[in-house]
Amino acid sequence: MRKPFVAGNWKMHGSKAMVISLASDLQAGLGSIKGVDVAVCPPAAYIDLVKTALGEGFVQLGAQNIANEPGQGAFTGEVSVDMVKDLGCRYVIVGHSERRTLFGETDLDVARKTALVLDAGLTPILCVGETLAQREAEETEAVVAAQIRAVLNQVGVVAFENVVVAYEPVWAIGTGKTASPEQAQAVHAFIRGLVAEQDEAIAARLIIQYGGSVKPDNAAVLFSQPDIDGGLIGGASLNAVDFLAICNAAGDACSE
Ligand code: PEP
Repeated sequence: MRKPFVAGNWKMHGSKAMVISLASDLQAGLGSIKGVDVAVCPPAAYIDLVKTALGEGFVQLGAQNIANEPGQGAFTGEVSVDMVKDLGCRYVIVGHSERRTLFGETDLDVARKTALVLDAGLTPILCVGETLAQREAEETEAVVAAQIRAVLNQVGVVAFENVVVAYEPVWAIGTGKTASPEQAQAVHAFIRGLVAEQDEAIAARLIIQYGGSVKPDNAAVLFSQPDIDGGLIGGASLNAVDFLAICNAAGDACSE
């Protein structure tokens, strides 16, 4: 049985005061939540501050992105995987659609970053998903397959033992439009099937989160789908009450 995993992507939001307050509220509220792994991914500038505010609880830290280069070097403005590891991160989001569309990251860039994260001993949260135009052109499976296969080709299926996949239809991110549970389940099952083509046991253990306008009122029905193992949460992760409710929904779905 897979343990659901909920991660909050805070994107480029916050201030020192705001992230301390949010992390403290999460720390206080998450104590009673069972049956779910939880992480938050603050802006890189605040990771250290959030770590201190979270203290020794079970909430893990993640980074939203890393440089596409190993080690250190003359890459002004970049943050390396070793740096976010040094700050205490266990997870790194790779291939978020905002990185792909706004910053031009290709499937190959994403595959390379996934390999860097794995080489550092951290867990990538690999985001995949189609745009509205691609869905309407019935290209969802082809797009998602290309995104997943680029990473499989780079790191090999065995490495997927330590990969989390997040299916995030681009048209549902930050738009208030959520994929229906059936739409999401169909793509999750398709992704699991892609990995199963190479290793059924690893596919069966693979955590596949759903992301795209998950809110407290739709989380339970999404998480109750057989191939949806929690969520990657954007907007709602900036509100402690909402994020805690979503974590609770994932824990409840697990114990059903
Ligand atoms: C995201 O950015 O990964 C995301 C899912 O955002 P939202 O929950 O706001 O749609």
